[in-house]
Amino acid sequence: MPIVFDDFSSGHRSACKWGEVIAGDIRDKAALRAAFTSTNPVAVLHLAARIEVEEAERNPTVFDSVNVHGTENLLQTMVAFNISNIVFSSTGAVYGAPKQVPISEKSSLAPKGIYSATKAKAEGLLQKFAQDGSIRHGIFRYFNAAGAHPDGDIGEEHNPETHLIPNALAAASGGSALQLFGDDYSTPDGTCIRDYVHVCDIANAHILALLHLMQGGDSFVVNIGTGMGSSVLEVINAVERATGKSVPYSVCPKRAGDVPILVADTHDGKQKLGFHAEFPKLEQMVEHAWKYYQNAKSR
Ligand code: UDP
Repeated sequence: MPIVFDDFSSGHRSACKWGEVIAGDIRDKAALRAAFTSTNPVAVLHLAARIEVEEAERNPTVFDSVNVHGTENLLQTMVAFNISNIVFSSTGAVYGAPKQVPISEKSSLAPKGIYSATKAKAEGLLQKFAQDGSIRHGIFRYFNAAGAHPDGDIGEEHNPETHLIPNALAAASGGSALQLFGDDYSTPDGTCIRDYVHVCDIANAHILALLHLMQGGDSFVVNIGTGMGSSVLEVINAVERATGKSVPYSVCPKRAGDVPILVADTHDGKQKLGFHAEFPKLEQMVEHAWKYYQNAKSR
């Protein structure tokens, strides 16, 4: 059974459907130690982070303290409790504007903003602890997490919402027009291309990673994407098809830090973990997100 440790600053208790839930902050070493003592975990999935890109630029100190020092606290606690295996959620944004697409894990890291810089620093901490021999890690560089559980009962809900698919669903449902950030990028239709990957596939990748590490496999760094890119206009079309409604949008200036194309090279994920996306199609991701969106609104 999982044990959830979360400060619920942005996570939702209602999404914790299985196992024990402990409210706590990874910056609080005593709280971490108490949680490890009471639950005796066998491995750690580390997803705790501040993720809002624009907030990071306004408030770098809090991002550094949660994403970097929080990770260090967690690693030190793991070592103190003799727990060696950790799977860490990083981001494809650590590559910055890549020289080559699809982006392989061997590409150099060149984070463009505070958020991705804190993730790159946290990766560095994991690598350091792994070199000491104190831990073994799986680092996942997520591309664009999308979709929702197919039942429509767990999904994406941020406040404020900044992500494209939920914002497009809101616009289709009568909310304000979607702001489309830039239509003159060097891409076929002028809008940014991203590699959207279903949240259930991301969850499955974590199970594969745990099995790999707990069976004695080596530390690894792997991209989590589908290897296929979709432009903002393609996402808008997919939302229009799934909802049967039009998505009003207005073209706005480019968003700071956005790069034209981010698509993952997925070779290492397949080869090292046997990872294959079960829901690789944008249509399905959008349909599941729409199901969740409607459920959430009717609550
Ligand atoms: N985007 C947009 N309008 C929005 C939200 C996002 O045009 O309201 C664009 C954004 O500029 C990027 C793409 O959609 O090119 C995906 O953005 P998102 O915030 O979902 O994920 P990111 O790529 O930033 O992790």
